[in-house]
Amino acid sequence: MLNIVLFGPPGAGKGTHSERLVHQFNLFYISTGELLRKEIADGTPLGEQAEGAIARGGLVSDEIIVQVIEKTIRAHPDSNGFLFDGFPRTYIQAYILEGLMIRLNTSLTCLINLRVPEAISTRRLIERGKTSGRSDDNEEVIQNRMREYSEKTIPLLQFYKDKGIYREVDATLPIDDVNRRIVSVIQEELRKTLFNVVLFGYPGSGCRSQGQALAKRFGLEYVATGPMLEAEIQSGSPLGQRIKKLYDNGQLVPDEIVVPLIEQRIESAPDVRGFLFKGFPRTLVQSYILDGLLRKHDSEVSKAIELEVPAPELMRRLDDRSKTDWGRGPDGHQARIRQRLHDHEVKTLPVIEKYNQRHSVTRIDGNRTFEDVFSAMSRELEASLTRMV
Ligand code: AMP
Repeated sequence: MLNIVLFGPPGAGKGTHSERLVHQFNLFYISTGELLRKEIADGTPLGEQAEGAIARGGLVSDEIIVQVIEKTIRAHPDSNGFLFDGFPRTYIQAYILEGLMIRLNTSLTCLINLRVPEAISTRRLIERGKTSGRSDDNEEVIQNRMREYSEKTIPLLQFYKDKGIYREVDATLPIDDVNRRIVSVIQEELRKTLFNVVLFGYPGSGCRSQGQALAKRFGLEYVATGPMLEAEIQSGSPLGQRIKKLYDNGQLVPDEIVVPLIEQRIESAPDVRGFLFKGFPRTLVQSYILDGLLRKHDSEVSKAIELEVPAPELMRRLDDRSKTDWGRGPDGHQARIRQRLHDHEVKTLPVIEKYNQRHSVTRIDGNRTFEDVFSAMSRELEASLTRMV
C-alpha cells in the first residue's frame, strides 16, 4: 500500500495537488476538513460538534477526527493506498495515524511538506475566499488557522523527521512543477518499497519454473523452501543432517527450521527489488509468520497469484515428472502424489483464502504453454508494479 500525508499550511495547495495525485497513483483521498464539512452539511451529530471549532479556525477534537477517519477507512478496505490531507494536524494525531496504519496492516510511506511562506498562503486563502464559499476563508479566521498551524501542526514534523520519512517540496512554484516534484518524491519512495509476490499452486502446476523465470524477469529474489532445504542437506551442515533425517523418515520439516532459513535469506539480500515466495507459506501458521517477517522490514505481501491447473492434468504432469531424470523422488509414487495434492487442498487453500480476503488473489490459468502462462503472469506483475511506481 502507498500511504502519503500531504502536509502544509492552509493555502499550500494540498487540495489542488491531492486531486491530481489520487488519479496518478490510484489512491483514496482523505481530507479531514472535507469530511467534517460534509458532516456539517448533512447535519449529523458529529458535524454539530465540529461546527464551532471550524468557524473559529480552531482544531476539532481528536475524538471527532478519529471517528470520521475510521468511518471512511472502514468503508474502503481494498484501496491501493490513502492520501491524507489535513491530518495529522498535531503531534498526538501522528500517533493516531500510526495506530490507524497498524489497524490496516500497513504503514505510512512518507509525509510530503508543501513549503510556502505564510504571507503567500495567506494571500492565496484570501483570494480563494472570494469564490470558495467557505466561511472559514475570511481574514480573521485565516489568522487563527495560521496560528494553530504554527503552534500545533508544525511541531509534528519532527515525528516524521525522526522516522526518516519526511520529504519536502517548494510549493511556491507553478502547479505543474510542484506536481512533477511531488510525483518524483513518491516514485523515489516507492523504489525503496519492496515488491513481494507469493505464488500459489498445486504441485505440478508449474509454480517452480514460472516462479524462477518471473523472479529473473522482475529482479526479485526467488525464495523457495524446497531448494533451500536441499542446499542445506548438500552442505552437510549439522542442520542439513537434521533435515535429511526428517526427509528420510518422511516427516515434515518444522517451522523452527524453515523460518530461520527464510529470515536469513531476506536479511542477506538488502538491495533487492523484492521477493518472490514459492512453496511458502504453505499453512495458515506460515502465512502469519511471513506477514511478521515482512513487517519486520516495514513491508508486506504486495501480490498473490494462484496458478490453476485441472486435477487430471496435474496428475499427468507429476507422473511424467517422476519418469524423467530430473524428477524428484517423492513424485514417483502415486500415493505420495495424492498426499501432496491433499496437503495443498487441506493446508494451503485456507492460506489462499486468507490472502484473497485481504488483497484478492489473482488466478491464472496454468493449463497453457509455458510462454502463455509466463506472459499472463508478467502482465499481472507489471500492472501491480505500475500501480506501485
Ligand atoms: P482544512 O479543510 O484542512 O483547511 O480544514 C478546515 C478545518 O477543519 C480546520 O481549520 C479545523 O477546524 C478542522 N480540521 C480539519 N482537519 C483537522 C484535524 N486533523 N484536526 C483538527 N481539526 C481539523
